[in-house]
Amino acid sequence: MLEGIKIEVYKANMELEKYGLVMLRWGNISAMDDHTGYIVIKPSRIPYSKIKPDDMIVCDIEGKIIEGAHTPSSDLFTHLEIYKAFKEVRSVAHTHSKWATVFAQAGKSIPNLGTTHTDYFKHDIPVTRTMEPDEITRDYEKNTGKVIVDAFAVKNPMTTPAVLVKNHGPFVWGKDIPQTVDNAAALEYVAEMAFYTMRLNTDAEMNEYLIDKHTERKQARTHE
Ligand SMILES: [Zn+2]
Repeated sequence: MLEGIKIEVYKANMELEKYGLVMLRWGNISAMDDHTGYIVIKPSRIPYSKIKPDDMIVCDIEGKIIEGAHTPSSDLFTHLEIYKAFKEVRSVAHTHSKWATVFAQAGKSIPNLGTTHTDYFKHDIPVTRTMEPDEITRDYEKNTGKVIVDAFAVKNPMTTPAVLVKNHGPFVWGKDIPQTVDNAAALEYVAEMAFYTMRLNTDAEMNEYLIDKHTERKQARTHE
């Protein structure tokens, strides 16, 4: 079932690796089927070089396996919390891409310092709060999803479709698979640029009017 989405999810996983966003096995992408509401996600414990489209797992929104011979990615329950909370999301990706993970480990959000950032993310990329011991020892992956959702209490997840899980790494999402892959690649690019920008000028900042202007331009392109 969902053979077309399995192929798309498979290809997207390979693209994350092609963009240099995935080292070893630290990465996964999933997508939601609009008709069934099922999620298709990469299996765990299989090297990227050996994965095939048929290995993709189909599960429901609670994580019950509908089809698949392998164990789903261990981050499945984090993905599911994102789908449940952010209703427009149709694809979620997680990587340990280097520069975004540097910010996550430092517990620092990625500030919006230029139009490159604004073209993909309207605001700073938030970092999640520190997780409590009982959130880590029980239902860790699900609770990781919950702290991600918490980070968007006053932020629109569709205009800033990325987050840094503190001491861990980035999760990104989008309205479809290609947009999610683009967001994962853009996040890594702007993270590296923000790091160097702040080294050159610790007071670097961006005017709100310029942010609004570029957000408007992007929306105009989306609707043209
Ligand atoms: Zn991870």
